[in-house]
Amino acid sequence: MQILTTKQALQAAVSECQQAGKTIGLVPTMGALHEGHATLVRRAVKENDVCIVSVFVNPTQFNNQEDLKKYPRNLERDAELLRSIGAAYVFAPTPEEMYSAEEMNTTFQFDFAGLDQVMEGKMRPGHFNGVVQVVSRLFYLTKPRRAYFGEKDFQQLAIIHHMVERSSMAGSFGDLEIVDCPIVRETSGLALSSRNERLSAQERETALAISRTLFASLEWSKSQTVKEVQQRVIDTINAVPGLEVEYYEIVDQSSLLPTDRFDHAIGCVTVYCGPVRLIDNIKYA
Ligand code: AMP
Repeated sequence: MQILTTKQALQAAVSECQQAGKTIGLVPTMGALHEGHATLVRRAVKENDVCIVSVFVNPTQFNNQEDLKKYPRNLERDAELLRSIGAAYVFAPTPEEMYSAEEMNTTFQFDFAGLDQVMEGKMRPGHFNGVVQVVSRLFYLTKPRRAYFGEKDFQQLAIIHHMVERSSMAGSFGDLEIVDCPIVRETSGLALSSRNERLSAQERETALAISRTLFASLEWSKSQTVKEVQQRVIDTINAVPGLEVEYYEIVDQSSLLPTDRFDHAIGCVTVYCGPVRLIDNIKYA
């Protein structure tokens, strides 16, 4: 496995793969890797000739500088894990390598047909512009046949599908396929997240109420309305000392708009566990 830190080295490696007729599978990450990431990488290794994993904490998708500063980083440990899984290349650039000063400071505006106006997009203005800025650049640099994303970030996945299928960029990425990967959880139910590293042992225990409540809501959905279930989830989580719901929305899985039916619906939650912002979701049907 090779660790590449420049766009030039990455493009040279990609050209070599292309000349040899090898398919490339890309897994974009921000590092501090865990079993959730590892699952995506294993799949990319299996389904493609060459797997490239990017490890880049993208500053343009953070609207909170404190969050960016505190984001866990450990390239050495990440590289060890990726080597053991069989990734061929790790692309780990600095922000300066990835963006010019102008790009770093310009607010990119993409049209997401409203998908970015709800939930994470509403709470973190500009977040998805930054995500699409970095993901489109990674697609351009790595020319993947497949790119792997987790359903843990369900809204991000919806927006990336939109960008590839319908936006003005359609066609720019050849026959790229976006591969949706299910949420990986601890046996306790807690959705794996790099941010879990910032939780104390006590907070980790407290955080279990999030997934427990989401799973319980599957049962509640059999006898209660969407509005009732939504409120019950919020009240149940907020009743746990140390947890505070930022939003819980039950939306249509395609449009991400609020729905009053459980059919094709997903519930997306963001909860503060102490200072750490955690997200999770559950599909109702
Ligand atoms: P991140 O490093 O948090 O930007 O995540 C990189 C990719 O891994 C994204 O596509 C995430 O959705 C995915 N991912 C992160 N955590 C999980 C998880 N627990 N289960 C499945 N995919 C995940």
